[in-house]
Amino acid sequence: MSVFEGLLRALVPRSCPGCDAQLGREAGLCAGCRARLVPRVEAYSPLWARPEGHLVTLGPYRGVTRRAVRALKFGGARDLAGALGGALAAGVPAEWDVRAVVPVPLHPSRERERGFNQAALLAGVVASALAVPSVPALRRTRATEQQALKRAGERGANLAGAFAADARRLPSGPVLLIDDVMTTGSTLLACRDALHAAGVREVRFAVVAR
Ligand SMILES: [Zn+2]
Repeated sequence: MSVFEGLLRALVPRSCPGCDAQLGREAGLCAGCRARLVPRVEAYSPLWARPEGHLVTLGPYRGVTRRAVRALKFGGARDLAGALGGALAAGVPAEWDVRAVVPVPLHPSRERERGFNQAALLAGVVASALAVPSVPALRRTRATEQQALKRAGERGANLAGAFAADARRLPSGPVLLIDDVMTTGSTLLACRDALHAAGVREVRFAVVAR
C-alpha cells in the first residue's frame, strides 16, 4: 500500500463489499464475511464423467461470494482476490497433488478494458498458498461470442476448440484450473480438453462460485 493509499484508507470510511458493514483499516472483506467463505469439494454433474471431475468451490453464486466476485470484477477491488483465493486454496485436497495453477483466460479485449484478469489474480493467490507456480498457459484461439447471450445448449458448440494450451509451460502432473464463476461448466470443459491435448493427464477445478 502506498503512503497515499494508506492515508486515504485512514481518512475515508470504507465498507465491506460483502455486507456493507463499516470497515476499519483492513483491506477486503470484514471478518464476518471471511468466515462465511467455506470451501467444499463437489462433483458437479454427469458432464464430469471421470473421477477427476471434482471442483473446489465456495458455494452458490449468491450472498457474500456473489458480492465479492462482482466487487473484484467490476469494482476493481483486487484485494478481494486474497480472501477468495485464500479460502479456495484451503479447500484443495492434498491428494490432488496439484503441480501448477492455470487461470481461465479472459477475452483479450475484455482484459484490456478491465486492466486485469480476475481468474489470473485468483490463480496467483491459490498458487502461492499451495507453493506451486501459477502458469497462464491457456489462450483463446478465437473470439467467442459472449456466453451470456447464448442459450445453454449453444454454449458447448460455441466453445469447442476455443482454447489452446502451451505444452512447454505445463507440468505433466495434475493441474488446477481456476475461474471466478462457473455457469454451465462449458468453459471449464473446453479448457480441460485443451490442457489434455497439451499432455496434462489430470485436471482439477476451482471456482469461487457456481
Ligand atoms: Zn462483511
